[in-house]
Amino acid sequence: MNGKGVIRGLGVVLQHFIDTYIVDIQARLAGRKRYYTPEGIAERSNYKARGIFTVQYPEEKLPVPEEFRYIPFLVYEEGPNGEQVQRCTSCGICAKVCPPQCIWITRTSDPVTGRPVPSPAEFIIDVDICMNCGMCAEYCPFDAIKMDHDYEIASYDRHRDNIFDIKKLSKPVSYYAQIRPTNYAREEAARQAEKEAKAAKKAGAAAAD
Ligand code: SF4
Ligand code: SF4
Repeated sequence: MNGKGVIRGLGVVLQHFIDTYIVDIQARLAGRKRYYTPEGIAERSNYKARGIFTVQYPEEKLPVPEEFRYIPFLVYEEGPNGEQVQRCTSCGICAKVCPPQCIWITRTSDPVTGRPVPSPAEFIIDVDICMNCGMCAEYCPFDAIKMDHDYEIASYDRHRDNIFDIKKLSKPVSYYAQIRPTNYAREEAARQAEKEAKAAKKAGAAAAD
């Protein structure tokens, strides 16, 4: 019969509508918060959930997995006086491997000798061209560029807001550790192991002399 599917669909909507109130009351009686908490979002996202399953964006946001990637950012260490010490050496590998060629780097020059200094004077990414592939982060030998989780970058002016310069791209290593804890821990363990191996080699060479 024509319209049978529409009636069935409306029945599903009505069922969700009624279930939402029932489950909300049950949750309140049980002391569970169904909205604006990570537990509430997880409960409503479950495939067994009854009632409302949508997210109240932007007040609520679905959690993203650790490997989620959006725009790259530059990782800096915080110096003893709070200064930003870029991990980037401006080697240019990321710019070379970037498929749509949306990274531009200017290396710092020593003002006296004019010789190159392994640090970027400027680092620019056109985020409208970036295809979020993560190749720059994969190939960087210094763990200096990583993929961010922040996807809320909509703007009205492409030229003013979407050409990210070094200031806009730079974030502290603590931020990286917070959004990608497993990756950070693995890299730090590898760094420590490398340091210890170097120290052991040096000590072995000194003992042999
Ligand atoms: S981010 Fe990494 S790969 Fe890119 S220039 Fe800096 S050190 Fe080299
Ligand atoms: S994520 Fe991919 S497209 Fe974007 S800057 Fe890195 S290499 Fe280029």
